[in-house]
Amino acid sequence: MGKPTGFKEFDRKKVPWRVPLERLHDFKEVYTEPEEALLREQGARCMDCGIPFCQSATGCPIDNLIPEWNDLVYQGRWKDAIERLHKTNNFPEFTGRVCPAPCEGACVLGITNPPVTIKNIENAIIDRAFAENWVTAQPPAVRTGKRVAIVGSGPAGLAAADQLNKVGHEVTVFERADRIGGLLMYGIPNMKLDKGVVERRLDLMRAEGVKFVTGADIGRTHELSQLQSEFDAVLMATGATKPRDLEIPGRQLKGIYFAMQFLTANTKSLLDSEHADGKYISAKGKKVVVIGGGDTGTDCIGTSMRHGCTSLVNFELLDRPPEERAVDNPWPQWPRIFRVDYGHEEVEAKFGKDPREYCILSEEFLDDGQGNVRGIRAVNVKWSKVNGRMQMEKVPGSEHIVEADLVLLAMGFLGPEHYAVDSVGLNKDARSNYQAEYGKYDTNIPGLFAAGDCRRGQSLVVWAISEGRGAARAIDIYLQGSSLLAAPDVTMGTAAAVPV
Ligand SMILES: Cc1cc2nc3c(=O)[nH]c(=O)nc-3n(C[C@H](O)[C@H](O)[C@H](O)COP(=O)(O)OP(=O)(O)OC[C@H]3O[C@@H](n4cnc5c(N)ncnc54)[C@H](O)[C@@H]3O)c2cc1C
Ligand code: SF4
Repeated sequence: MGKPTGFKEFDRKKVPWRVPLERLHDFKEVYTEPEEALLREQGARCMDCGIPFCQSATGCPIDNLIPEWNDLVYQGRWKDAIERLHKTNNFPEFTGRVCPAPCEGACVLGITNPPVTIKNIENAIIDRAFAENWVTAQPPAVRTGKRVAIVGSGPAGLAAADQLNKVGHEVTVFERADRIGGLLMYGIPNMKLDKGVVERRLDLMRAEGVKFVTGADIGRTHELSQLQSEFDAVLMATGATKPRDLEIPGRQLKGIYFAMQFLTANTKSLLDSEHADGKYISAKGKKVVVIGGGDTGTDCIGTSMRHGCTSLVNFELLDRPPEERAVDNPWPQWPRIFRVDYGHEEVEAKFGKDPREYCILSEEFLDDGQGNVRGIRAVNVKWSKVNGRMQMEKVPGSEHIVEADLVLLAMGFLGPEHYAVDSVGLNKDARSNYQAEYGKYDTNIPGLFAAGDCRRGQSLVVWAISEGRGAARAIDIYLQGSSLLAAPDVTMGTAAAVPV
């Protein structure tokens, strides 16, 4: 334990974000350079509890050894800290930036005081390690001669590839997009995760021997059966990419897009040409309505603001969460409380008001007479609990129109697309995800495994890494009979359900 009295002496202080009105002018990351003294002070707040809930139970889904590296940071032993961190997390530079940090919701100090800034510390450890050149390619000394194909290059596929390569298997990752990274590349925008950070890790993996093939759309450009015959095992890590639609009158109007159409085109055009090619959906000069919250909604808000929209409203169907934990949401559960993310902060700074409007149901998209959307007819709703279930009713007389010439649908995802696996008869579960038992990751087809959002439904980067690591161990056992690979303990951490 760092400093026995640290939690009494120091308050929680997060590494600040850049000033909203300044960061709106670019797509650079919102984070600032942390001060070492601040991080060491925060590390000193860790109480090294007998049972560290942060790293187990409802906390970190990859069982990060949090109290250990908190202490090492407090002592200034950064190199030891990255060694501990890399034992459980292949990509701390991703989680350190984008994880909602269920660990902090489960921090024991959080029962009485604000929790330790675990995520900031994690990010600082890996950024420092890269800056000091401590992270170098470590190709395996011996190859097993076994070949594994991974379909999908998001965090689940990448974590599995990294692990399987470490134990000497030859790994090839097939990705249908033109860049590797899944939602790390074409989902989460640059201001939350710079693509140079993603490329830096991919370069290391290439140097260690992992092969990447882009433009390989399994089920279309290549048959899955071809991979099954050429490789000793195949892992499906294709994500939950089917968007939830809003099928109300006027849906066919121009100016209404799924969030991922908007976000993907924006990042691709930004990376290809700094937006000079104009191949993106611009929010410049538009009245934008984002329907749906979560990370996807926030990223649509942040991107629209950077384009220069003239107004921004965010519809939320549900009620505003409480400021503090409700009685039915005790510690160490993930706190379902009101939070202000970077996009909300930016709208407030520019337009003087948080963009979120709660308890709003969209009923119709309105036509401007030329086939373009001009607004949304909406109605307020009221939620109440009936027989233990939440029920919604419309508030009489609350119908109103909100002007909009760009509408972005960010209402979540319905599971994986099926075209890649239909030809081989892969079983699906009741929610249309690829069926594979949690912790085992094998499907009804021998040698075919599934992990990440395509198996569990839309989730988080940290859960994708957790599943990728678990699947790698399962595949290693399938190929070799046993495995030295570490994987998260699936008897712990299963309750860390954080809404996205
Ligand atoms: C806009 C947005 C923002 C998010 N922000 C956050 C955040 O801040 N923090 C967080 O923790 N989580 C966030 N998430 C969730 C997180 O990104 C996902 O849970 C995570 O990326 C899932 O990883 P995955 O590897 O399972 O799938 P994905 O990242 O979805 O990757 C799947 C990959 O498979 C490829 N693929 C699909 N089918 C095929 C095929 N047939 N052939 C070849 N390739 C194929 C896809 O092109 C894709 O690249 C966000 C999600 C979205 C949509
Ligand atoms: S990966 Fe997420 S849950 Fe785990 S320590 Fe990092 S911020 Fe916390």
